[in-house]
Amino acid sequence: MPKRVLDFRSDTVTRPTPGMRKAMAEAAVGDDVFDEDPSVHALQERVAELLGKEAAVFVPSGSMSNQIGVRVHCDPGDEFICESGCHIYNYEQGAYAQLSGLATRTVDGACGVLQLEQLTGLIRADNEHLCRTRLVCLENTHNRGAGKIQPYDVVESICDWAHANGLRTHLDGARLFNAVVASGINARDWAQHFDTVSVCFSKGLGAPVGSALVGTKEHIKKARRVRKLFGGGMRQAGIIAAGALYALDNHIERLAEDHANAKKLGDAVGDIPGLKLIGDAVDTNLVIFHVEPKLGTAAEFCEKLKAAGLLMLAIGAQQVRAVMHLDVDEADTARACEILGEVAAAAPGVKVTAGADVHY
Ligand SMILES: *Cc1c(COP(=O)(O)O)cnc(C)c1O
Repeated sequence: MPKRVLDFRSDTVTRPTPGMRKAMAEAAVGDDVFDEDPSVHALQERVAELLGKEAAVFVPSGSMSNQIGVRVHCDPGDEFICESGCHIYNYEQGAYAQLSGLATRTVDGACGVLQLEQLTGLIRADNEHLCRTRLVCLENTHNRGAGKIQPYDVVESICDWAHANGLRTHLDGARLFNAVVASGINARDWAQHFDTVSVCFSKGLGAPVGSALVGTKEHIKKARRVRKLFGGGMRQAGIIAAGALYALDNHIERLAEDHANAKKLGDAVGDIPGLKLIGDAVDTNLVIFHVEPKLGTAAEFCEKLKAAGLLMLAIGAQQVRAVMHLDVDEADTARACEILGEVAAAAPGVKVTAGADVHY
């Protein structure tokens, strides 16, 4: 039998479990653009309730959910403030500009974490030369920040300041449930500071497709219009909504296993000469590490890992990302640690010219 490849590239690579497939196969469906799909309704109600908001809308992807979120709060010519490593700014093709005519003001954070003092001078004056500052976007957990959990008091202070100054707030919570499980702070408490929150079902929760945007009834009414505008109106979407609902019922608590595995991998990386962990700690399910040039570039290092049956992602010239998820267990993680050590210990071999810099 061929050896199973250990895939640590992303928590998007999971495949639906038999239980999830069964729930999907049996889902009641209707036309969701007509707002008549009972499974989509059930999911939307569940997510709104979990996050303590009035309403939710089911969408195909986290990128769409974010882009609908910013569009709900901003009109063309408006500007939003965000951290410079965030997904909305870096990994969505500048869709806020392409689709909505928005400008952005980026601020460098520490592992994705901004401090209020960095933002207080950034709201533009009411002057016809200038963009209108409308929105602040945060990301929790932070992908480029190596899965960092935003400090709760920082989130609170930034959002309070934004609201006191007439700005809206949006949370990219693609991995919010990782933050919930690791911090013990519930989803409602995190979400209460934001006007809209996007959550993904297709990352650590293990569903094949889908994200949701939550907010007030008013915001979600507008979001449904924008979803249709962006081509995200789906028909018998209950089949995939049932997978997402199953994930909420069965796959939240188990994220703690991913976090425990990530800590083990992080510890192993710390002990391997030539590799260095990025970030002060492993908070959740992501591990990002620096590869010393003597071991080759990140792309070359990943090529060697691949030859040994382990997939990780080069996310910079010398940076590699590993992500724990539903389809890798403790034994897989232990094996991944061994392979990392063996590959790092071996003298640099293959020279690969493949480009680095792939990220999701
Ligand atoms: C994965 C991800 C998204 C959305 O991804 P899609 O592939 O569009 O579903 C958004 N934000 C963050 C932080 C992510 O990691």
